[in-house]
Amino acid sequence: MTVNPVVENFASTGKRGRMPGMQPVVVVQHPLAQCHLAAIRAVGTPSHEFRRHLNHLARLLFLEATRELPVREIDVQTPLKQTVGSQLARPLVCVPILRAGLGLLDGILPLVPDAVVAHVGIRRNEETALPHAYYANLPASLSNADVFLLDPMLATGGSACEAARQLKEAGAMRITMICVVSCPEGLAAMERAHPDVAIVTAAIDSGLNDKCYIVPGLGDAGDRYFGT
Ligand code: URA
Repeated sequence: MTVNPVVENFASTGKRGRMPGMQPVVVVQHPLAQCHLAAIRAVGTPSHEFRRHLNHLARLLFLEATRELPVREIDVQTPLKQTVGSQLARPLVCVPILRAGLGLLDGILPLVPDAVVAHVGIRRNEETALPHAYYANLPASLSNADVFLLDPMLATGGSACEAARQLKEAGAMRITMICVVSCPEGLAAMERAHPDVAIVTAAIDSGLNDKCYIVPGLGDAGDRYFGT
């Protein structure tokens, strides 16, 4: 399968040559992000190290994903003088897809401790590789929020598409997906179903194997993060 997403490296972001309504795929090529990615790809990395590197990488991806969030000015009184500071203009909602998305959440939450955390549970049927939605706990309305959908792996795109559908049904209008490793099949699925969802990733790998795992990928992200 071929895909031709609008790929950007944030280091060179200036103008965005994309169609109206189509959000970019941003590949974060920051050297630190790529070093953490190499560590979590390595088969010999134990769970405790995998967690540490994934948490750091999540933070770096989140920094890029939030780069253009609007802020409002607030007055700040320093010990010396009154000055002007910033506050996020809209509520921020993080939505990990259970369970591997929790690994990204752990890295991100210290940066935004007052974020709302919503959950979606989507399990992949290992026989058919189709998504099965088994849990959702979303705020009543997401229409005014900046929503960050978290899943380390964008493989077939089945779970991501279903999660984005649920978020839109709950009113979400600004969704960014953060994934560590993506592939052409998953990106194409998202582009078809949800071209308005921006994607921030550390890598676009070559594709899926016959079990729908990303190659070279990093294996099962949930198993490696939780050690089960
Ligand atoms: N989920 C994973 O954890 N790894 C893959 O390669 C694909 C889906």
